[in-house]
Amino acid sequence: MRILITGVAGFIGSHLAERFIKEGHKVLGVDNFITGNFRNIKKLVKSPNFKFKKLDISKKTIDFDADIVMHFASPASPVDYYRYPLETLKAGSYGTFNTLNIARKNDARYILASTSEVYGDPEVHPQKESYWGNVNPIGPRAVYDEAKRFAEATTAAYHREFGLDTRIIRIFNTYGPRMKPDDGRVIPNFITQALKGEKITVYGDGTQTRSFCYIDDLVEGIYRLSIKDNLDGEVVNLGNPEEYRIIDLAKLIIDLVGKDLEITYKKLPKDDPKRRRPDITKAKKLIGWEPKTPLKIGLKKTIKYFKKILGEKT
Ligand code: NAD
Ligand code: UDP
Repeated sequence: MRILITGVAGFIGSHLAERFIKEGHKVLGVDNFITGNFRNIKKLVKSPNFKFKKLDISKKTIDFDADIVMHFASPASPVDYYRYPLETLKAGSYGTFNTLNIARKNDARYILASTSEVYGDPEVHPQKESYWGNVNPIGPRAVYDEAKRFAEATTAAYHREFGLDTRIIRIFNTYGPRMKPDDGRVIPNFITQALKGEKITVYGDGTQTRSFCYIDDLVEGIYRLSIKDNLDGEVVNLGNPEEYRIIDLAKLIIDLVGKDLEITYKKLPKDDPKRRRPDITKAKKLIGWEPKTPLKIGLKKTIKYFKKILGEKT
């Protein structure tokens, strides 16, 4: 099959492209490098089945005879989307329209990378796909949350109006090699701080929770949801249902890095969700998927990667 992946130089997009290439498909990847890095696709560009085009998908479209269109382009970490608020809104709106139109023109399947952030600060726990969410539409996180909600609404409308084969994937916190050390998300922050021997910055009192999925498990889920027939119009959560308090994550990373480090408490960002855990019953039923990598193992692999790239920088 011929796959178009936007955001291919990012963390998830690059792993996804690698998986499709490994399975014998052809990939055209696009990215404008706003939060991505060429290093993530350095190996991929050597493959004859991979083509890359530098492009801002919010501003321009592309001619590609695709079987599957996967829209993954968007700043994704809170630090990134606070830095690029309008670009984030545009990636979810114009970027979604542009990619949906490519899919429509080619009668291709469409996969939207959505997020657990559509549930906002959830009043229902764990979060099932049927929950509508609790989002502050004018808060600082709204540039991301509402952009993704708009992207979902647009995708659902193309499914209803044009019968396009769409699938919306609500991705929960995912981590692993190829995240940026200065990405600002909790795992890269804690690992980078620990490796540099700095204080670990816990926001708030650290009792807020998240559930962390290792990248290989996520990619397996996305791959299965993308290639299986008869999933038109589905919305599916992908994430690891093991829930951790942020303070416990900090202690675990300190332990794994093996240094005697202090924890420092900083102000909790506005509208920071108090808890988050996916209900993955639907993914289990539809594609027989559940994550396999325990947090400790995934963290060890991620620490190894960060050691390597931080070493490269110094
Ligand atoms: P990332 O920042 O590493 O990757 C995003 C990529 O998109 C970057 O390479 C960036 O340069 C590119 N991009 C952004 N705007 C673009 C534009 N207008 N045109 C072309 N390229 C553009 O982030 P990620 O963690 O890999 O996230 C990828 C996707 O998955 C995003 O849509 C994100 O919302 C979604 N997601 C990620 C997570 C997670 O935990 N990592 C969770 C939920 C959803
Ligand atoms: N967090 C933290 N210290 C950091 C970075 C993040 O305590 O250095 C907290 C943050 O406030 C949130 C959780 O960790 O409660 C997850 O944050 P992240 O930015 O990784 O993702 P989110 O799920 O909030 O989008």
